Amino acid sequence: MIDLRSDTVTRPTAAMRQAMAAAEVGDDVFGDDPTVNRLQDRLAELTGQEAGLFFPSGTQSNLAALMAHCGRGDEFIIGSLGHSFGHEAGGAAVLGSLWPCPIENEADGSLALDKLAAAIKPDDAHFAPTRLLVLENTQNGRVLPLAYIREAAEFARRHQLGIHLDGARAFNAAVKLGVPVIDITRHFDSVSLCLSKGLGCPVGTVLVGKRELIRKAQRARKILGGGMRQAGMLAAAGLYALEHHVQRLAEDHTKARQLAEGLAQIQQIQLDPATVQTNMVFAGIAPQHVQPLAAHLKNAGILILTGANLRLVTHLDVGARDVDTVIAAFRAYFRSA
Ligand SMILES: *Cc1c(COP(=O)(O)O)cnc(C)c1O
Repeated sequence: MIDLRSDTVTRPTAAMRQAMAAAEVGDDVFGDDPTVNRLQDRLAELTGQEAGLFFPSGTQSNLAALMAHCGRGDEFIIGSLGHSFGHEAGGAAVLGSLWPCPIENEADGSLALDKLAAAIKPDDAHFAPTRLLVLENTQNGRVLPLAYIREAAEFARRHQLGIHLDGARAFNAAVKLGVPVIDITRHFDSVSLCLSKGLGCPVGTVLVGKRELIRKAQRARKILGGGMRQAGMLAAAGLYALEHHVQRLAEDHTKARQLAEGLAQIQQIQLDPATVQTNMVFAGIAPQHVQPLAAHLKNAGILILTGANLRLVTHLDVGARDVDTVIAAFRAYFRSA
């Protein structure tokens, strides 16, 4: 199958599996796993942060970060497209007793500073106290401009808010901009970085941030059941990926752009290839075509996510020739539709 549903579908390569099998391990709940410690330190160093903490998932890492920044009944401001707002099963409210304040994302994925300013609550017993601003980069494949990140961080400091980045795909953003990831991450108090997406690991997210925040997040991780034991086998995959799978993200971006250019030539598809910045392609088609097209593609060995727009994500396990196969399958469907 050519699986374009997400970049989470990658399988660990033979070399990554070897690195995992060879990992030196210990009990990480006691802080004894040398490979986990190396991964945490390495990511803290790469991102210009004081400390790191290994999590089984990005959902748990984001939630632990929110719980570290905020106390019960506090409010966090987040994009209405934000993963922690709409795609983490309301965990911040269910488990963190936190109150989200969603702000509509701008077309480039950012949150307008004037809208943020209007959302910050005055010190008044009617309101949940606003404590935190959450940004996401990439946001549905779009890269936040560096100048915007600097302004947003200054804004947060000026208003005494913490600032967290859901950087599940921050390495995609850095590779796209041609800068080291630290140029993005150093502006935040905490950053969540997924290893199990474009970087190709089977499991894992690292939260990096200020030492005091990471200490609080470690307690939250324990509450959430995320303390793992000989997790070095998983961390080894992360260390391998940081060495071998970061620069190659550029190939995923090229494949996504080629895919977008091919699909945009099909008359029944609404898609501007210039909007494709990293590894995600969103294509608009008439609603009556969505299910028959998905079925046709599945017959041809191609999986996509359907919704208001089709989502196609490129990754490590999508070959250069697969892009042509996918474009041809779309063409074949619309020729006979
Ligand atoms: C995937 C993702 C997460 C959550 O990661 P999981 O490991 O799937 O829990 C968080 N934020 C963003 C932007 C993501 O894409």
